[in-house]
Amino acid sequence: MIRKLIARVFSRGERAPRGAVPLAPRGPEVIGPARHNITPERLSTCARRTCDTLQQHGYRAFVVGGAVRDLLLGRAPKDYDVATDATPEQVHAVFRRSRIIGRRFRLVHVLCGADVVEVSTFRAPQAAGDDGADQQKDAHGRLLRDNVFGSQEEDALRRDFTVNALYYDPARSEVLDYCGGMRDLEGRVLRMIGDPTERYREDPVRMLRAVRLSAKLGLEIDAATRAPIPGLAGLLANVPRSRLFEEMLKLLLSGHAVACIERLRREGLDRDLLPFLEAHLAQSVAARFVMLALARTDERIRADKSISPGFLFAALLWHEVLGEWRAAQARGLAPVPAMHEAMDAVLTVQAEKLAVPRRYGADMKEVWLLQWRFEQRSGRRPWRVLEAEKFRAAYDFLLLRCDSGEVDPALGHWWTEFQEADDTRREAMLLRDETSPKKRRRRRRGPRADGVEDGVPTPDAGGEPGP
Ligand code: ATP
Ligand code: MG
Repeated sequence: MIRKLIARVFSRGERAPRGAVPLAPRGPEVIGPARHNITPERLSTCARRTCDTLQQHGYRAFVVGGAVRDLLLGRAPKDYDVATDATPEQVHAVFRRSRIIGRRFRLVHVLCGADVVEVSTFRAPQAAGDDGADQQKDAHGRLLRDNVFGSQEEDALRRDFTVNALYYDPARSEVLDYCGGMRDLEGRVLRMIGDPTERYREDPVRMLRAVRLSAKLGLEIDAATRAPIPGLAGLLANVPRSRLFEEMLKLLLSGHAVACIERLRREGLDRDLLPFLEAHLAQSVAARFVMLALARTDERIRADKSISPGFLFAALLWHEVLGEWRAAQARGLAPVPAMHEAMDAVLTVQAEKLAVPRRYGADMKEVWLLQWRFEQRSGRRPWRVLEAEKFRAAYDFLLLRCDSGEVDPALGHWWTEFQEADDTRREAMLLRDETSPKKRRRRRRGPRADGVEDGVPTPDAGGEPGP
């Protein structure tokens, strides 16, 4: 009802005040090739072919979303999305190499060689008619259903930011702009479509997207889009944890993790995602460590090098593990059991906020455990450490600890040299006087029955002095 009323008002040519993007169709601004820098050749072959083929079959098809935004900014898009008026079944029928994916949110993946383009049918924000709408939101206003086909205008208005709602037609080389996205892109502004508070309530992840996209693209978040965020940060608690993890990963791997984390903190969004971060960043060594880890990640990503998410999360949580580890040792536990207890405690609390998948959990634990093993520099132990699967990551982690001032840089230098040295030099480097005379005597008497073989604890054994 209200939507119809607004539609009528705007169809008389009135404009919403700047800052509030109307949630009612008003027809697109058509931006011709003279006013934008996208040429069909700049698109991926797969995206172009997908649009061409759909159009040849009589459908409308456009490149949409982040790809158009990035091309207009002169950047290489990460991936391509195509929006069309064809239903998923119709798209699937056109492309031999395609598959329909998703149950709630049905999309088609069109494959060209190793390349994939995601094709979605124009969708409306919610079901037509006022009465059914509420049933698709939870008690906090979060949208539970968003899979109703609609017009292109509706499809534009259900998107998050104006700069993400631009459609590029390769055949005509035109950009269709329903929400003033072109002007915002030129002004380097990230602006929510519609009422920001309502749109964050529908999907709180949009707050994280605002932070990530503004940091990554160098856009200023518009004041009205930014203002409600601190007050709504708590809504992230209602989002499935696996989705939060995925979004957090995108943020940390954006190549702008430092800027993103700083913005998350500024907006009060970090508390619900990484509960430990806030406490860490108040301490200078821990803050230096986290920021160094993020800065290295950014450098690697910008240099197109690989990054292990396990490493990154291990770094974010390290000082928490360290605190728990020290506390467990103070309670009398030996270093290795204490480390296991600390790791489990930290991962359990973190899992309540953000579901770090199990496969990363195992990597994180190995990197953490190796930190203790780096201290053990006598006997055969350093050789075994070199053979550990996660040695390289754990060594990089150790260097970060040195650089942040947590451990003596001499330990990092030792491991740098040990890796490069020949066997004779390695033998000479071993520390001979690490264990107490009592332990040396015990070792001479023979192997122990508690899993500590030749004085070298297996990862699950205990009994050695900690750092
Ligand atoms: P990038 O791929 O660089 O991370 P993107 O904007 O392309 O950024 P995608 O997740 O690929 O992000 O989404 C593609 C498009 O889908 C977006 O540009 C936007 O139009 C729409 N979209 C994505 N997430 C949301 C959301 N939470 N709410 C509304 N629209 C969204
Ligand atoms: Mg994208």
